[in-house]
Amino acid sequence: MTDALFVGAHPDDAEILAGGTIAKLVRLGYSVTVADATRGEMGTRGTVEERAQEAADSAKILGVTRVNLALPDGGIGNDLPAATRRVVEAIREHRPRTVFTHEFGDHHPDHNAIAQAVKYACFQSNVLKYNTGQERFLPSRLFHYVGSRNRTPRTPSFIVDVTETFEVKMEALRCFRSQLANKDYEGPETYISSDLAWHHMEARAGFFGNLIGTRYAEAFTADAPLRIDDPVSLPDV
Ligand SMILES: [Zn+2]
Repeated sequence: MTDALFVGAHPDDAEILAGGTIAKLVRLGYSVTVADATRGEMGTRGTVEERAQEAADSAKILGVTRVNLALPDGGIGNDLPAATRRVVEAIREHRPRTVFTHEFGDHHPDHNAIAQAVKYACFQSNVLKYNTGQERFLPSRLFHYVGSRNRTPRTPSFIVDVTETFEVKMEALRCFRSQLANKDYEGPETYISSDLAWHHMEARAGFFGNLIGTRYAEAFTADAPLRIDDPVSLPDV
């Protein structure tokens, strides 16, 4: 059993979009699993082996269990039922109370497709006759990362203060030596490997922090309104 499952299309997506929240949940004592949908084999930089090592190093820093669903990089959307099935298998194996994944309408087709597959899977994993040879399981909630490139951000349903764990997120991100800004790695230039992308990650955390009166934060949407039993107990802003 895991408390929270974070699904990213590629190794590094969960860290980029929710690494501070992941680290925070681990600090709070929750068990967290990160599932990378693909091995990132279509990435402009880095080999599958390099990326697997980077993902493992980052998982160690964050304190999470990490699995890979081995779906085709660049082609998750080509076979959505197959992607859904892999996610159902992961949900039934890890039995997370809460699931996080990409948002619909993300600029990257894989991000968009895995968001759809995870949404379907959260339903199908509780269908008795959807047979994977495992016990059925219904996650309680599905949340989506806010922060797609070149898109107006969706209005967050909630924002998590990650000021205390922002440095852990950055340390985890530095594990992705082939992917993110790193002068010691030679490879073709990409947006994500540029200093600009690094700056944008910090700026985005600062922007969301500004909305809740903290230094750094990460934002999420929910598919349904969130129940709050005691609105007076919410943190001050
Ligand atoms: Zn990605």
